[in-house]
Amino acid sequence: MTAFACEAADGDARTATLMTAHGPVRTPAFMPVGTHATVKALHPDEVRATGVDILLCNAYHLALRPGIELIERAGGLHQFMGWDHPILTDSGGYQLVSLVEVAAVDDAGATFVSPYDGSRLRVTPEDAVRNQARLGADVLMCLDHPVAHGTTPEAARTATERTHRWAERCRAAHPGGGRLLFGIAQGGFDAGARAESARFMSGLDFDGVAIGGLSVGEPVETMLTMTAASVAELARDRPRYFMGLGTDAELLAAVGLGVDMFDCVVPTRLARNGSALTPDGRLSLRNAAARDEFGPIDPECPCAACAGFSRAYLRHLFQSGEILAHRLVSLHNITHLARLMDATRSAIRQGRFAEFRAERDGRLRSAPR
Ligand SMILES: [Zn+2]
Repeated sequence: MTAFACEAADGDARTATLMTAHGPVRTPAFMPVGTHATVKALHPDEVRATGVDILLCNAYHLALRPGIELIERAGGLHQFMGWDHPILTDSGGYQLVSLVEVAAVDDAGATFVSPYDGSRLRVTPEDAVRNQARLGADVLMCLDHPVAHGTTPEAARTATERTHRWAERCRAAHPGGGRLLFGIAQGGFDAGARAESARFMSGLDFDGVAIGGLSVGEPVETMLTMTAASVAELARDRPRYFMGLGTDAELLAAVGLGVDMFDCVVPTRLARNGSALTPDGRLSLRNAAARDEFGPIDPECPCAACAGFSRAYLRHLFQSGEILAHRLVSLHNITHLARLMDATRSAIRQGRFAEFRAERDGRLRSAPR
């Protein structure tokens, strides 16, 4: 039994509410990433004010530093980081690809070498679930074994089969108690394998299923084909979560295929590089063009950066290396994606998602940059 109530559907896009122990998550939902139990540079109240319902934290990084036990003693992750709303934790599977030089994997589990002090961290599927439960996360993710784009089909098959065996072990370790556990479908870059993996995960009665191992460098067309092949086999009455997606056009394309949840480090990473997200594309606040533009990043955006400051001032802050620049543009970029999801939910409820998506895609395409 899952706590996922669908309110409206428009084609394959749908809007729903996922109930968690720390409150509701309105979907489609974008989750900012707080890898180290903080959305970089922002106070939790500021993050909440952007309109997001849920954050992603990384159990692998937190297990290495400061350690699961310390966070447990602090009263759990919500208490520790001052965020009294839903939290989803990633298990560390993604780090098997992104940190391939510091990870080794075998059937029993994964061994990570800490980038901080070189110590070894052994994580079995059962450990991954247990660690996330000890952190007090609302949504726990299975340990999975994704592969990089360009991996041979044989290696992808081996990793997907391992992901399936691990999923069964994670499912058996499901702590219950109001916590939700999501499976992760893999399948590499083969539509048949994607469908098979999604079917397998649907059969394990998880509270939701993620589509993992995509948006890792493959062409967008491939990514969307693999997403469609996965979604077609996923249960309609459970949330579907695309791991690691955060640009407007791709988010709307995935929503159109029936995906409900997303996370991405891009909005905060871009912000620190001086790049602001707008309905008309990315705006570089480091460019000379912003030097004497006295209007806001986005006149329609209600965030503190747009309400109070000009592009010229933000460019000046970046030029001067001032940390307020990072804070304000991070705030803006997360607000931008939260508002995009809010407008998406409204469009689905009104049965005009296709028009909404076409209008937003049109603005992005006609953008000067
Ligand atoms: Zn703004």
